[in-house]
Amino acid sequence: MALCSNTKQPVDIPGVLEKRKIPPVFERRLLDYEDALNRCLENVPEQKTPVETVALKDSLGRILRQDVESDIAIPPFSKSTMDGYAVKSEDVQSASRDNPVRLKVIDEIPAGSMSDKIVKTGQAARIMTGAPVPEGADAIITIENTLSEDDDTVRIYDAVGENRYIIHKGQDILPGQRIAESGVTVTALLMGVLASCGIAHVNVAGRPKIGIISTGSELVTPGDAAGPGRIYDINGYSLYGLTKESGAETTFLGVVQDKSDDLLKTLNNARHLDILLLSGGVSVGDYDIVHETLQRAGVQEIFWRVKVKPGKPLFFGKMDHTLIFGLPGNPVSSVNNFYLFVKPVIDKLSGKTRWGLKTGTATILNSFILQPGRRKFLRGQIKTDNGREAVWIIPEQRSGVFSPMARADVLVEVPEDRKIVREGDTARIYYL
Ligand code: AMP
Ligand code: MG
Repeated sequence: MALCSNTKQPVDIPGVLEKRKIPPVFERRLLDYEDALNRCLENVPEQKTPVETVALKDSLGRILRQDVESDIAIPPFSKSTMDGYAVKSEDVQSASRDNPVRLKVIDEIPAGSMSDKIVKTGQAARIMTGAPVPEGADAIITIENTLSEDDDTVRIYDAVGENRYIIHKGQDILPGQRIAESGVTVTALLMGVLASCGIAHVNVAGRPKIGIISTGSELVTPGDAAGPGRIYDINGYSLYGLTKESGAETTFLGVVQDKSDDLLKTLNNARHLDILLLSGGVSVGDYDIVHETLQRAGVQEIFWRVKVKPGKPLFFGKMDHTLIFGLPGNPVSSVNNFYLFVKPVIDKLSGKTRWGLKTGTATILNSFILQPGRRKFLRGQIKTDNGREAVWIIPEQRSGVFSPMARADVLVEVPEDRKIVREGDTARIYYL
């Protein structure tokens, strides 16, 4: 039977382990969440990622780096919203089923063409949905309320007011009107608005270049065999996905064992990146070589350890112009720190107007007991309670158990002094 171990001593890879030589700094003050986040944001360079011009269809999910104004009015002409007849509304005021009004039909206007005729008193033009309303007409009678008598007369059965079934030129967008602002994400619908104005290319934020390193002598990449005491790398994958979702160009630099020299080599290949995310080995255990190795690489430490749970061991620093996050190895902690600290940095670097997760408040559905001390971020699911949105706290909150995190809709923030969250409490939530 294979000997499995929960300790940091994988039994099948002799000679690869190195005990950390620098004594841990236990007495450091833990930074508060806001202080730590501010320090991250302060260190984002003024110079954002370079601007790229892309075709409109390639702009989905990208961050605009220009204000966009329309050159034209939308709609570009006053148009009919119904198939029917364009009339002068004053001509049909007395029209009804029993007492129709007869008008002379002077033209037929399909979508895509303009009439050169002017509708005068006693006249109408047959018109299709989307076609320009001819001069002189100020309302549309729907086809159902008419009867075509012969080639050039129509009976009108309906009295309509001025402007009925017409969208006037510029009623949606005026020429020169701002339709999108620098810093917003291009959504499918914004792409539609931009298209309506004939915009074929937009300037967007270049993708931040991000590298990911998973550290830990226990880690195996899916596809390789996991021997005794080994586990599959989670963080390499979840952080890869999260950075890509945040618009980055991400490179996975590999799994590195808990050997300082190996990590140093990998760090030296990462100096061109905007952001480097390491996970694992950043705490104060015997084989946690990340902090020491970052020092060897000349990384300037900005902070180490934050008063949040999960995610206390977070390290943040700079290696030349590369921002470095040392995230805890526990997959829940590293993802939590990604959302709280890394995502806002990516967003700011890309020139986004809003940084980090969208927040809100919600009522809690179930009580939960906590250890006071650090600001907590619990995983929750949105449920509907009497028609109102409320949050159910997932019972499994240990940071070593990962899969419930993937089922969470929100993080629920709990102040550091709280020993219990009660059903009916209101909490700040972060939408994932
Ligand atoms: P560490 O921060 O290195 O002390 O790791 C804390 C816990 O997270 C340990 O149980 C590690 O085995 C685990 N861990 C570290 N890195 C990863 C990873 N990339 N994927 C999955 N689990 C990890
Ligand atoms: Mg480790």
